Amino acid sequence: MAPVIRWLSIVFVVSAFAACDQQLEEAVATPTDAVAAAQVDTDRIKAAATEPEMWLTYGGGYDEQRHSALGQINRDTLPELGIGWVYEMAKPRGAEATPIVVDGVMYVSSAWSVVYALDAKTGDELWVYDPKVSGKDAAKGCCDVVNRGVAVHDGKVFIGVFDGRLEALDAATGEVIWSNITVDQTKPYTITGAPRVFKNKVIIGNAGGELGVRGYVTAYDVDNGDLVWRFYTVPNPEKRPDGAVSDESLERLANDTWGDTGAWVTDGGGGTAWDSIVYDTVNDQVLIGVGNGSPWNPDIRDPDSDGDNLFLSSILAVDADTGAYRWHYQTTPRDRWDYTATQQITLADLPLGEDGANRRVVMQAPKNGFFYVLDAADGELISATPFTAQNWTTGQFDENGRPELVEEAVDLALYAVVPGPTGAHNWHPMAFNPDTGLVYIPVNEIPFFYDKTRNVEDSKSFWNIGYDAAAGWPVEYPAGTLDAVRDLDGGSLLAWDPVKAEPRWAVPFPLPLNGGVLSTQAGLVFQGNKFGEFVAYDAETGERLWADKLVGNAAAAPMTYEIDGEQYLSVLSGWGSVSSLIAGFTYGEAKSKEPARVITFKLGGDGDMPAALVDNVVRTPQSPMFGEPDQHQLGMQRYAESCHFCHGAFAVGGGVVPDLRWSALAGNEQAWDLVVREGALEKQGMVSFAGRLSKEDTDAIRAYVVQQAWLAVANGDALPPQDG
Ligand code: CA
Repeated sequence: MAPVIRWLSIVFVVSAFAACDQQLEEAVATPTDAVAAAQVDTDRIKAAATEPEMWLTYGGGYDEQRHSALGQINRDTLPELGIGWVYEMAKPRGAEATPIVVDGVMYVSSAWSVVYALDAKTGDELWVYDPKVSGKDAAKGCCDVVNRGVAVHDGKVFIGVFDGRLEALDAATGEVIWSNITVDQTKPYTITGAPRVFKNKVIIGNAGGELGVRGYVTAYDVDNGDLVWRFYTVPNPEKRPDGAVSDESLERLANDTWGDTGAWVTDGGGGTAWDSIVYDTVNDQVLIGVGNGSPWNPDIRDPDSDGDNLFLSSILAVDADTGAYRWHYQTTPRDRWDYTATQQITLADLPLGEDGANRRVVMQAPKNGFFYVLDAADGELISATPFTAQNWTTGQFDENGRPELVEEAVDLALYAVVPGPTGAHNWHPMAFNPDTGLVYIPVNEIPFFYDKTRNVEDSKSFWNIGYDAAAGWPVEYPAGTLDAVRDLDGGSLLAWDPVKAEPRWAVPFPLPLNGGVLSTQAGLVFQGNKFGEFVAYDAETGERLWADKLVGNAAAAPMTYEIDGEQYLSVLSGWGSVSSLIAGFTYGEAKSKEPARVITFKLGGDGDMPAALVDNVVRTPQSPMFGEPDQHQLGMQRYAESCHFCHGAFAVGGGVVPDLRWSALAGNEQAWDLVVREGALEKQGMVSFAGRLSKEDTDAIRAYVVQQAWLAVANGDALPPQDG
């Protein structure tokens, strides 16, 4: 029997391949021949609401409401929702992108800035473009080598590449038309955000505030990549003109809010615009969400001033054509908690004018836990209301819209601040439904211990934070400690009324970091969560109406489109970033490392969800315990400073990169050194730490990791090694 079965399988495999080839040829022929690829311009995106069967830009339209008028998938038809197609992406690691769909083609990106063009009806691959980011650049990223999406315009697909390139690809073939290096690549700049296009320009910011850079955004000509304007969000160390359009406003408003010494002078000050950059069609301006200070601790960043450090943590409005300053609102003056204001900016007309007249507003729910409504024309603060627990302000604001701070949250001697640096809301997109008038926000509650009183001066922290990276870490946590930490954490899907400035309903989660959100006119809210579910909620009440189990977890936002009268609903599954920072102890280890996938649903879809990978990690210590308490203490400190941002807090891995406790490397000093000191796994993103950490440090880290493995055994979370 056996040989026959084998022969049959070979025949089956061969014919399956042949069928695939044929399908692929047909697929390539259909969408590209029918219409020239990606014929999108500013006017078409402006009118996006008139063709809801497309998804033309990152946030679904210029106002970035992530609300679709499609209604075939509705309360009545939800039970018929099934898998239409599944596409497995080439590269593992975090999945955060929102796909774009135009004229039958889906353009989507994955980790390592790889771009895919797929037949949106079948999921067949049309082309794949890999910009071949160097593995060692992974170490420049705070939060994995993710990418949140592409932009399309006039036959081109634009991708912000992780290493700082901005590239224009031929939408029909994936070939590079132009490629620009937008950053100083000797510095730890990265790009993870989606570019946006408007008025023949493509705009991109960058990231790197945790490692030490100076933020800015740049608009380029879509046709040839020529620089049109650049706006720096913070001054340069000499406070001299850059020869950029930001010169005037930095001189007039920002320079005096910074001193003349401190880490900002050498490390750039931060203020990176790594996510939300939105074109306001009515006011012909660009709204830029500006990131946190670098380092986080302002006593180190800017010790001889107590200024606001403009334009950190601000929403900044600039002229769309010239980049000239219009207005700003700083959400967190003199940021000290990594409170970025980079989170999603959504524009809407709300009845907040005189006598209930409509007023065009900017809405944002940034990391700091307040929901802001500003007048889009001039930035006037209309309301600022906490949408979740926060203990950094008293809740009072002065007449200039400045929050009154809580003393302990400024003194920061081992004070647990909520929200922590993961934010009450992070990059996970929210959505606004104009019919219900509600904003649907994926909310996190994750406090963080900030301590500026110890382990700061002699820190070797990989992150440039200026606080004790191990604040609140016990060396030998007793059983139950992690559970206690988990108990502090939570989250919700929150429906927020931006007119009344109050919550309408919330679906609480025992764990934070629920996924991005899509709203539809059928009165549904779609969201993935970290339990691997994809759920539809009632937009008015939050009632859970439908759910399916994904393979992997969806942190990315769903989107929807229609082809030949059929509505499709797509979401990326795979781990999102930030999960790598806290997922391990918050969610427990990932049971397997699922590849990133585009999972597309439709009514009557009868496709299969791929089977989950078999978990083959053996959770057992790889070495006998070694080292004295001093060495474990040092190892914990250095692990917290240099390793935990990728490998997980308390050495509990989050699934994106290996859990070191079960790694064979931890059991072998030579192998450990080969990787940690000599960079043997640089291609995968694990660079050498020899320039930063001494041999004593890296030995101590190994001792700490092995100790944590044995503590897991003692706590019943892992098995002792088997004899023999
Ligand atoms: Ca940050």
